Amino acid sequence: MAWRRPSVTHVAMLAASVGLFLAAGHFAAKAVIDGHQKRQLEELADVALRRAEVAVSFGAATLDELAGKGTLNCDPGTLQSVRLQVYQRSTVKDIRLVNRDGSVICSAYSETLEFDSGWVDRADMLPSQDGRLLLFRVDQFSGVALGVLRDIDKKSSVVAILGINSYLFDIMPAELRAHSEVLLRLNTGLEVVRFPASHDGSSHSVTITNASTHYPLEAIIRVDTGVLQRWNNEAYWPTMFIALGLGIAFGFLLTKTRPRLEGPIADIDQALARHEFKPFFQPTFDLRSGEIVGCEVLARWIRSDGTIVSPINFIPLAESSGRIEPMTWQILSTALREAGPLLREDKNFKMSFNVAPRHLLSEGFIESLRRVVLAAKVSPRQIVLEVTERSELPDLERAASVVRELREFGFRVAMDDVGVGNSGLSQMKGLGANTIKIDKFFVDTITEDEAAASIVAMLVRLAHDLRMTVVAEGIETSEQIQALIACGVEEGQGYVVSPPVPFPNFSELLQARRSSARAKEAVGQAALVA
Ligand code: C2E
Ligand code: CA
Ligand code: CA
Repeated sequence: MAWRRPSVTHVAMLAASVGLFLAAGHFAAKAVIDGHQKRQLEELADVALRRAEVAVSFGAATLDELAGKGTLNCDPGTLQSVRLQVYQRSTVKDIRLVNRDGSVICSAYSETLEFDSGWVDRADMLPSQDGRLLLFRVDQFSGVALGVLRDIDKKSSVVAILGINSYLFDIMPAELRAHSEVLLRLNTGLEVVRFPASHDGSSHSVTITNASTHYPLEAIIRVDTGVLQRWNNEAYWPTMFIALGLGIAFGFLLTKTRPRLEGPIADIDQALARHEFKPFFQPTFDLRSGEIVGCEVLARWIRSDGTIVSPINFIPLAESSGRIEPMTWQILSTALREAGPLLREDKNFKMSFNVAPRHLLSEGFIESLRRVVLAAKVSPRQIVLEVTERSELPDLERAASVVRELREFGFRVAMDDVGVGNSGLSQMKGLGANTIKIDKFFVDTITEDEAAASIVAMLVRLAHDLRMTVVAEGIETSEQIQALIACGVEEGQGYVVSPPVPFPNFSELLQARRSSARAKEAVGQAALVA
């Protein structure tokens, strides 16, 4: 066959189409990198804000506890016990009793008053969203602190002086650290903390601001533009390559695939009818002994071709389309059927499952739950309902009354994703749950910096003050287990023991762990006898 010279038009067409794809690839790669950087910076601003919020909530809880004890006055004995409170809480530097106008009556550490270089009037203090607290900046000769005021009665108020350490905001990745700063400000623009203290920011910088919905605070991250251009851009060439491939594949698919008539909601309905939503089980364990003490039920969609769909890909749609209710009952009934014998045999074993807030608040929820659990001959004491703190509960008061009723019937309630939610921890007290689950977000960095550990310790302290137990999620290493134990956390969950698995695998894991524990015990006893 003779070789035909490509015509000029052919070459031009080829060049044009390659050019078009590469241009698209370039813009796609730029967009991906910019988007990725923006998300990472937003996440960092989120970390900074959450840390500040936990510190304020911690101060507020300290004040609540003091106010709850009744008469607060300037007697030496009272002040001594207040000093003990301060001593036990590292972020609280001082506690002061103040007049209604904000002027100081007395201070737990009277000497510290000399360190003030200014004190604001009540009129200049900024209210929290629920109006219970007032926040203000305290200028001291040694630096800046944050004041949190809470009223005790019509005449007087208490103030906690919080030392928001700048190292709490040492969160930037190494490549950016020298060219960035993290700030905490009151929403009037008054600066509270800056890390590092002396960053001479270039005039060309990218700024990300994240304002708290609960406190008059905002966290700000500034990064020099120059360093951003070099940060994390390894993705450029691979992305261009992928964009090219995707473009071709997409065009190809477009011509080949018949348009699907049904939408994703119809898919969910079909899957419900076919019972394709299944429970997977992930162990919860005692951090010290490693003993498995319960499990969390996590939804999986097992499609007819065997592919497993993760819950983030269908729970949000199920929630917004009203399918979450039948889906939850389907998953819970299967979980109770599979784990029923285990639950009946070991009365200390607890099984948690996730309930969407709107489902919890729906008509007849408690009766249906009791019916399902009773039918499975399982004690409500062994069932834990996990309610997420991620989205604000639409009606906290009603939620609290549902929780109260559930607890009267013996059920337990856990607050999920604590610390990352919208509630700024204000729901922690209001909901009346038995347990808090500390999000993986906090566990991830607990071994990396002391500040993350002190945040977890504050959450634990808050929980214990409210007589709640604590479970930490997303534990992947034994170092994290040790760090969590040091913070006072009792139980955990995570890949370090097992990912969520189908019940037969879960049961196998449990038996294996229990028989190895028995073997160890037997060896121990034999050693004692000998
Ligand atoms: P969640 O309730 O916070 O569940 C914990 C998630 O963390 C699970 O993701 C679990 O697989 C994952 N995880 C646990 N340990 C580790 C670890 O060590 N490392 C890592 N990287 N991940 C870990 P999953 O199963 O994908 O579930 C995601 C979310 O979907 C759940 O978060 C929950 O909010 C929701 N969800 C799952 N099942 C249900 C359900 O039946 N009903 C409702 N309403 N929501 C559900
Ligand atoms: Ca959960
Ligand atoms: Ca969680």
